[in-house]
Amino acid sequence: MKLMLHVAPGIVRQPLIASVILETSALVNIERASIDAVSGEIVLEVPAEKCAVVKEAFERRGVKVVPLEIPVIRDENECVHCGACVSICPTQTFRFEDWRVVADEGKCIQCGACIMGCPQRALKLVLK
Ligand code: SF4
Ligand code: SF4
Repeated sequence: MKLMLHVAPGIVRQPLIASVILETSALVNIERASIDAVSGEIVLEVPAEKCAVVKEAFERRGVKVVPLEIPVIRDENECVHCGACVSICPTQTFRFEDWRVVADEGKCIQCGACIMGCPQRALKLVLK
């Protein structure tokens, strides 16, 4: 399962991920990270059975944690199945099935690349 971490300015320079991995022994994968001197936005893939303990460990360190259950939404009425999002998405969230585009939203890491790439503006991110 994917977790979005919102890291506040006061703690962005702390080794948060390393300390949570050491504490929980979770096999965490960093799928996306946007970090600068003042804040951070990080998407982690965490084994389902470790999600609760990892989430709690980050929250104890002052990190806001949002499970990415439905990261991206497609408006079925607007989508024309052109396939632009299939080629743009770095995580293969979209694919063709019988000439129609289908989505596996669980793969989305909210990079945002498909949003501007859709000619129909049929995609939007679920931001929390
Ligand atoms: S780019 Fe937009 S219109 Fe094209 S298949 Fe994807 S969601 Fe549908
Ligand atoms: S935001 Fe769009 S392009 Fe980026 S991972 Fe999610 S579905 Fe793929």
